[in-house]
Formats: sequence, structure tokens, C-alpha cells
Amino acid sequence: MTKERLKELLKPIAEGLLGPQGTRRGPEPPHYTVRPVGMIVEDLCRIPEEDWAIYAFSREPLNGKFTDEQRRDLTRQALACGREYAEKLAAQYGMRDPEKLAKVLGVKVDFPDMPQSTERVLFAEFREPDKVHIYMDGVRKGRILLSEPGVPHALTGQLDIAKLLIGHELFHWVEEKYKKEIWTRTYKIELWAPRPLHNRSGVGVLGEIAAMAFTKTLNNLPYSPYVMDAFLVYGYSPEAASGLYEEMMEKAGRTPRLPEAPAPVALPDAEKEGGASR
Ligand SMILES: [Zn+2]
Repeated sequence: MTKERLKELLKPIAEGLLGPQGTRRGPEPPHYTVRPVGMIVEDLCRIPEEDWAIYAFSREPLNGKFTDEQRRDLTRQALACGREYAEKLAAQYGMRDPEKLAKVLGVKVDFPDMPQSTERVLFAEFREPDKVHIYMDGVRKGRILLSEPGVPHALTGQLDIAKLLIGHELFHWVEEKYKKEIWTRTYKIELWAPRPLHNRSGVGVLGEIAAMAFTKTLNNLPYSPYVMDAFLVYGYSPEAASGLYEEMMEKAGRTPRLPEAPAPVALPDAEKEGGASR
């Protein structure tokens, strides 16, 4: 999912996991307070789809060209676009299962363990013209986390991680197929160019936001699939996932929680406040 973003995001993790050890360059990465995965998904699942706008745009190279109001407005349009195509395809083919839908559309989905180039951790990717790779190493790590306390309740029994990823990548195929008319591709912004030239550019993140809405609709999930970014990263690095959680919460205008303090050491009754027993 959102491969450009994950590339950037997981680079330090991938270097630690898969690259040569002990060759870290530059300053120490920041440290984050590790939260239980159940707390992370519980809080992130409560963020409404539109409130992911600022976080989503923060991964867009042209982010600086927009105001927050524009980011929110474009996010709403991208969400509508993703939903519209999900409903259109579901109605046309009489099915919502992303894996089956991929099959009837002629998109080849395979499930290798990891990307061929093992420089980084990646969960899924779309390769033109018609291939989707779902990387099972990350999916398996995610499935293990599904039995952690609080996770099944937050993510619901409805979640199938592989199908969620397939739905997202399938949208990128849809975008290619309908590139002349689909809003995520026809929307352009005017960048500076010397007169009389024009320099109009697409905005990649709109496709990512729409892909999230597309797979959310097909999978019938009540929360934004952006939650998966933190959840799946948790399988590799609970600390990196906790850092992402903080950032996601803050960019959605919320206060990240700290993990519950460990149970206090039992005090003699007299020292307890009021000494009342509970
Ligand atoms: Zn994507």
C-alpha cells in the first residue's frame, strides 16, 4: 500500500532488519514510547476518514502548495472518487471481494514472501500493467497481531489483511484504466513555469487517498485503511509504529495516549488516599 510513503517510512527499519548491521549513518533516530498495539488501533480506528487529510498530504511531495482547507477539500473529493469506483465495479460485476474482482478484471495477484529487492519492507505493490504483489511476510506478522488484546474489537472480524491490500492496489490499476477521466488523474495543479509555458502536475496522494476509500468500501470496513500503515509497521517495529501513531493522532487534531502506567506497587492501607478500600 502507498508504496512511496512506506519506502520512505520503513527505510530505517528495513536497514536495521535486512541491511548490513551496524552501518547506521547520521544521528540516532528519535525514540518513541512504545504503546500496546491494541491501544494504537483503538484510537486510530476512531479517526473519521476525512480527518486523515493532513497526515495523507504530509507524504505528498507537493504538500507545500496547499492550504489545510484545500487539503481537506481535495481529500473529500478523493474519498468520493474511490467510493464511486468501488460501487461502480461492485455493481457491474456483482461482487465486492477484491480478490475475486481482481480476477475477473484480469489483474494477476501473487503472494510472494518479500519484494525481490530486499532493501526495504513493503506490504504490497501494483506493477503496470496488471500485476499486484502482496508480500506475505508483513501480512503474517499482522495476522499474529490480530489476537493481541483490544485488536479484534477495534479492527472487527470483517478485516482480511490481504484483501484490504489487494483492494488498495487494485485501485491503482483502475486509475490506469480510466486515466483519461478518473478525477484522481484529471485533477492538476498549476506549477510555476516561465511564460508562455504551462507546467501542470498531477497530485499523487489523491490516488492514495482514493485507493484507501476504494478498498474500505469493497471490504466494508468502518474505519480508514490508513490504520493499517501503523498496524502493519507494528509487526516489524513497535517503536516505529508508535511514532507513526503519535504523528497520525496529532495530524488528525487528537492527543496521543501514553500507555497505561504499570500497576503501582501496593502500599499499606494507611498510606492510600483516604485509606478507603475499593
Ligand atoms: Zn497506493
